[in-house]
Amino acid sequence: MNANLTSLQQTLRTFVTNDLIPLEVDVELADGYLAPEKRAALKDKVRALGVYSGSLPRSMGGTERSWEEQVVINEEIGKVTNALGWLVWAPAIVLRHATPDQVERFVRPAAEGRLDICYAVTEAGAGSDASTLSSTAIRDGDQWVINGEKWHVTSAFPDGVAVVQCNTGDEGNGAVETDRNTLFFVPLTAPGVTFAEHPKYTHHLIDPHVRLVFENVRVPSANILGAVGNGLGISKEWFLHERVLIAARCVGAAWRLIEEATQFAKERVQFGAPIAEYQFIQGMLADSLTEMWAARELTYAAARFADEVYSVSQTEEDAKRLHAKAAMVKLYASEMVGRVADRAVQIFGGRGYMRENVAERFYREARVERIWEGTSEIQRLIIASSLYKRGVEKLID
Ligand SMILES: Cc1cc2nc3c(=O)[nH]c(=O)nc-3n(C[C@H](O)[C@H](O)[C@H](O)COP(=O)(O)OP(=O)(O)OC[C@H]3O[C@@H](n4cnc5c(N)ncnc54)[C@H](O)[C@@H]3O)c2cc1C
Repeated sequence: MNANLTSLQQTLRTFVTNDLIPLEVDVELADGYLAPEKRAALKDKVRALGVYSGSLPRSMGGTERSWEEQVVINEEIGKVTNALGWLVWAPAIVLRHATPDQVERFVRPAAEGRLDICYAVTEAGAGSDASTLSSTAIRDGDQWVINGEKWHVTSAFPDGVAVVQCNTGDEGNGAVETDRNTLFFVPLTAPGVTFAEHPKYTHHLIDPHVRLVFENVRVPSANILGAVGNGLGISKEWFLHERVLIAARCVGAAWRLIEEATQFAKERVQFGAPIAEYQFIQGMLADSLTEMWAARELTYAAARFADEVYSVSQTEEDAKRLHAKAAMVKLYASEMVGRVADRAVQIFGGRGYMRENVAERFYREARVERIWEGTSEIQRLIIASSLYKRGVEKLID
């Protein structure tokens, strides 16, 4: 790691260790509640550190970081539970497709941490296959009328904005099903938007997951992100980027778990000796470290490949190779952290089953990494399909 990356890593590590980790247990026991004034104070600190919005250019209010730098940031924020790491806010890379007017209304405020942006794609009937949505947007002059319901919308706050993927039928070039999708910026204060439900989930994060209902919600054409009929393509680019960052956060979580479990194993005495001396415990720690390192190497390799691809004019073939690599790192790292968290609970014994224990929290929290932004099964489909088309060498090079 070069000096710049090490310095960035140190900045994040200090913030995570001193400001975020001490909050975990209180936030967990309060089912994810973090007082608004505390949230605001921490965001001010992140602003001062200049580590937010790495995927957006400076011209849009971001801090314009390489993929490798973003991986460094996400590895460190992955070490903290309850999504406290999300206080280092990072709007989606695809907001780069915004028009200058959208940049001023939505992207810059989001990049600067003044506006919460969430992404609403999933529906009751459309999850892994997001190409056949029942939420519709119908053109009415220079406006669009949106109707539908979106599930699991993460970080949907009442005064925020959602990027909503809708079926726009044969508008645009929608001759085939996959081209019938369009993304719209929708202020969540707009008439017709309802926060229908705040379901309870396995984890207790500082941000909510909401079921949103849109009933005759009107937005201007100026709120379309990208082109009409290009929603699926843009969403895929967003998933690809996010998959690499998820992998980095999984590596960070595993790193923390291995350190905490090792420390505990050295201190916990049973049968007259620290449990660290027992080979069953050693095996669990050794397997965890080995798998974590493998995931880490893969993740950094994918990020460097992405930096190469993005620094030259990107060919379609490069983009497809990156798509497969991002799927591989997301698949491997998310499955890896599940195994590591399970072993960490085992090493902590009964303590590892208590919510105030880091292993217990990660054991629950890591589970969704195999589900969101494309399930493990979907990653496998992407990888196998790319393998059949390109062969081994193109995908590991
Ligand atoms: C906590 C949380 C937060 C989320 N946040 C957001 C958000 O902010 N915005 C948003 O839009 N969505 C969000 N999601 C939704 C998430 O992206 C979806 O849950 C995910 O894509 C899977 O879709 P699904 O739940 O409908 O499962 P389904 O697609 O119904 O899949 C069910 C099972 O079938 C398998 N399966 C499906 N198709 C195939 C296939 N072809 N071959 C083999 N197996 C298959 C899946 O792998 C899975 O095991 C969130 C979900 C959760 C749990």
